[in-house]
Amino acid sequence: MEGEHTKAYMADSILVLNKTWTPIATTTIKRGFSLVFQDHARIVDPENYDLHDFDRWLGVAALPISAIVPENEHWLKTASLQIRVPEVIVLNKFNGVPRRELTFSRRNIYRRDNFQCQYCANRPGLKHLSIDHVIPLSRGGRTSWDNCVVACVRCNTRKGDRTPEEAKMALPRRPFRPSFNDGVALGIFVPASWGRFVGRVQREILELPSTGLIE
Ligand SMILES: [Zn+2]
Repeated sequence: MEGEHTKAYMADSILVLNKTWTPIATTTIKRGFSLVFQDHARIVDPENYDLHDFDRWLGVAALPISAIVPENEHWLKTASLQIRVPEVIVLNKFNGVPRRELTFSRRNIYRRDNFQCQYCANRPGLKHLSIDHVIPLSRGGRTSWDNCVVACVRCNTRKGDRTPEEAKMALPRRPFRPSFNDGVALGIFVPASWGRFVGRVQREILELPSTGLIE
């Protein structure tokens, strides 16, 4: 799982900002291009945050098919052109923030908890991690965002069929339902140009406070 955190970003999604530049969604490259093409959105220049409509984007971010494009950038090849894939687009009209929730899944629990045991703060790698029901299922605990945490196999075994109080294994952070922005921050493959809109703050609140128990 270490690889997942360090893998270079390959743009397979586009960050969508509403009219006031609040991140509200991610979308596919196809849908992102289509929104811009239909004039529902403009592309944010990843270098200087200028806004481009489709034609302007072709003016600054299209090359002949024979040109060599930077390897760390994502370019879409058409029959005659290569077009740089936008990383961020801004909607022209929509001003709201739709209520969105991150899907409840094993993978997203791992992401929320940063692949880190919530009891001992260790990161032993995915093979040695498990999902713990804070209040055990046998005691009426639910399988939900606020009752599931990542625990290393060792802590999970030690805790057994007990509550954290009974096991004297305090949770430094209450499990929570991540917001959409948390989810974007957890997207892991976040390109640098997204950093202006999401990332730092969300990442910080997601970091587990150091317990001082683990080096
Ligand atoms: Zn642990």
